[in-house]
Amino acid sequence: MEDYNGFEEQDAFGTCGPYSVAHASLLLGRPTPVKKIKKSAGYKEGSVRSRIVEFIGGPSMDAFKNIFNDEDGGTSPDQIKRALSAAGFKFKVIQEFDISSAKKKLDDELLRGHPVITNVDFDDHWNVVAGKIGNKYLVVDSWPDSASERFLLWTWKELLDDDEGCWNSSCERCNDDADPDSDDREYGEVWCNRCDGSGEVGTEFGACPKCNGTGVLSCPRCNGNGEEYYGISVTPKVSNSLTLTGNLKEFYNYVADDKDLQTYWGEMLADLLVVFADRNADGAVKVAVSDWIKQNRLSIVESLSYWYQELQRTQIERDLDCYLKVAKAYNMLGPITNETIIDFVSCFAASLYEWYLY
Ligand SMILES: [Zn+2]
Ligand SMILES: [Zn+2]
Repeated sequence: MEDYNGFEEQDAFGTCGPYSVAHASLLLGRPTPVKKIKKSAGYKEGSVRSRIVEFIGGPSMDAFKNIFNDEDGGTSPDQIKRALSAAGFKFKVIQEFDISSAKKKLDDELLRGHPVITNVDFDDHWNVVAGKIGNKYLVVDSWPDSASERFLLWTWKELLDDDEGCWNSSCERCNDDADPDSDDREYGEVWCNRCDGSGEVGTEFGACPKCNGTGVLSCPRCNGNGEEYYGISVTPKVSNSLTLTGNLKEFYNYVADDKDLQTYWGEMLADLLVVFADRNADGAVKVAVSDWIKQNRLSIVESLSYWYQELQRTQIERDLDCYLKVAKAYNMLGPITNETIIDFVSCFAASLYEWYLY
């Protein structure tokens, strides 16, 4: 049985990237196990820990910073793109240096129902902006500190704020060639190319006219603010695929305070996709899966209580309600046949066994 992840806490320090891909895949109705994502991304397991161990007693503070900056101390944009392609998604990069164009690009993608994996905390972390509820941004975050806040609702201002959403990474142009030992150059500045940073030109060593003798220029890429807004928007390859981005408010109400539903979301979705596999088949009579669950609630609960007498009936009912919520969040439609109830009860039984009796 595949180990499908839900909206869960990341399993190690550097795995926010793979978890963000997994969360985006759930939002777009295509559950993808984190294990598979790590593999397709080329994520190096345990590398952060081994590098921290290497660092202890090591050379310098810069080496310590590099643990987090290095590609294998987390997930690079290219690794995320590779994992998205392998999981069957298309993607589009948002890379802006100006706040208002960043907002426009982000809003455009969300309006189209495309979740955006964003680079936050100055290149230290990835999370997913799922969409907007009213004028607030719904963010899914795998970071352990926010276990009680897996889902966050930010205003635009909060989304940018360093102490809150912190959608902010560093401009590479003016950060990469910075001299860490020099105080002469600030964030958002680059060395003057005319005088190579000396501030002087010509045989008489006069002040460089380009930089007025300061040796530095405002970074042409970020216009001197030193910051970059980076995200990767995610789209399914097939247009008729499931998505819950049109139903975000209802979805948020279901999952915000329900840890179990967060954890088992992926497995329940995977079960429903198996039972209603031909939901796009032509000619089949389709009904809303959530309505079908409601109508068959009694017989489903009866059969499972009979099979698993060691389980509380209320537990089975509670879990069935979770399936109902998952189906409803995606507005899932399914073709109904005489076998549907047998298929559903079998999948549900297998999951119950795994969750409580294994
Ligand atoms: Zn100059
Ligand atoms: Zn810059």
